[in-house]
Amino acid sequence: MLELSAFELAERVLDREISATEAAATANARVEEVEGRLNSFITGTPELALERAARVDERLRRGEEVRRWECVPIAIKDVLSTRGVRTTCGSRILEDFEPVYEASALVNFGPDPIMVGKANMDEFAMGSSTENSAYGPTHNPWDLSRVPGGSSGGSAAAVAAGEGWWALGTDTGGSVRQPAAFCGLVGLKPTYGRVSRYGLIAFASSLDQIGPMTRDVRDAALLLQAIAGHDPRDSTSADVEVPDYLSSLEDGVEGLRIGIVRELTEAEGVEEEVREISLRTARLLQEAGAEVGEVSLPHAGYGLPAYYIIAPAEVSSNLARYDGVRYGLRVPADGVHEMYRRTRARGFGDEVKRRIMLGTYALSAGYYEAYYGQAQKVRTKIIEDFRNAFARYDVLLSPTCPTPAFGLGEKVDDPLAMYANDICSIPASLAGVPAISIPGGLSRGLPVGVQLMGDYFSEPTLLRAARAAEQASGFHFRLKP
Ligand code: GLN
Repeated sequence: MLELSAFELAERVLDREISATEAAATANARVEEVEGRLNSFITGTPELALERAARVDERLRRGEEVRRWECVPIAIKDVLSTRGVRTTCGSRILEDFEPVYEASALVNFGPDPIMVGKANMDEFAMGSSTENSAYGPTHNPWDLSRVPGGSSGGSAAAVAAGEGWWALGTDTGGSVRQPAAFCGLVGLKPTYGRVSRYGLIAFASSLDQIGPMTRDVRDAALLLQAIAGHDPRDSTSADVEVPDYLSSLEDGVEGLRIGIVRELTEAEGVEEEVREISLRTARLLQEAGAEVGEVSLPHAGYGLPAYYIIAPAEVSSNLARYDGVRYGLRVPADGVHEMYRRTRARGFGDEVKRRIMLGTYALSAGYYEAYYGQAQKVRTKIIEDFRNAFARYDVLLSPTCPTPAFGLGEKVDDPLAMYANDICSIPASLAGVPAISIPGGLSRGLPVGVQLMGDYFSEPTLLRAARAAEQASGFHFRLKP
């Protein structure tokens, strides 16, 4: 059962060959078996999963309509609010925080998402390795001495290891795509505004998006179907109709124009074999009928420094709310300022503090124009680059990240090296366009991701291209460890 895709499992549950309860019990048993080696979860919810699965089975017995996605146990990144279930964001400051409402992205799952647990993550989603979690690092199921990527590393490890069939992650600068790449999965960052952020604990509000992390492209389409849609409670959620993501999935790439992004394929630090795998994927798409050419995003190289101003600037504002008054940890002291100081000093980890300081500095009087203003101009330039590229191409292609999974501990003491890992994923984040990572092949026995990017709300096209590439590459999900 653990080898099935989420879609296949759902079909079996709907056909009453497997019960949702059996599926949940199987996931729970797998968590028992591997969790000691992986640390994918901050909070396990095995009983909840069984209870909810039983309710899904009961609805099936009564002949009620149950949608495919409701049948499949899921891991949920611990940045998404889950009613009554502790939501820590990977931080000490929210160690005992229990949200009073559910994130909007989960509403289509009905009252009973079969949640196996809240997945580990870098604190407040800041990081690329899950080593910034206050609850210990997650290990990569493909090689336990390596990172699973981040910040949605727990979600990725859980799916790769069969602690659930799929997961929700969040992506601000690559946090769905990069861990998916490191763990041999598909990871989709939807168009900014496609999925409601209501109930998603904010990191950088102009960039954050929730996305599916799955075993194949069809599962990504199915999970996107479940979470996409307009939500009046999130003013940045787009009032754009949600298409049927599955109906055009198998239509192939005949005539589709695909542009290989020069700046990202040749970016600093991109390993030769990683580049080769991207180019091979482009060739496979060409053989499948796509028109393939080369395209330039001239300002893509400035994405990294611009992002590491804009995201921290938003952090300095968004994280001001953790002051010991309303949420989570409070360290008592004489006087309110001393209480704030002690609470934040003890509650936040080093990377979060670094970002708050960088962001506060970048926004302060006298520096605002030089840093934040300049970074916003770069962002506009990158948006224009994408607009020009999409005038000639339907889909853009690049590596997802420069290397396969790196070793635990390898970059923790070098923030710049950690940030540099995000070079290929950040441009799509700054522009707000959708981007998907699919496994393209192996390098030194480790999975390598290939990234496809599309124009705003072109997820159907993007998924169709990704599906064709997945089928041509012959890469199939394998359960690890
Ligand atoms: N690695 C990037 C950062 O640390 C992206 C994180 C994310 O997408 N949440 O900001």
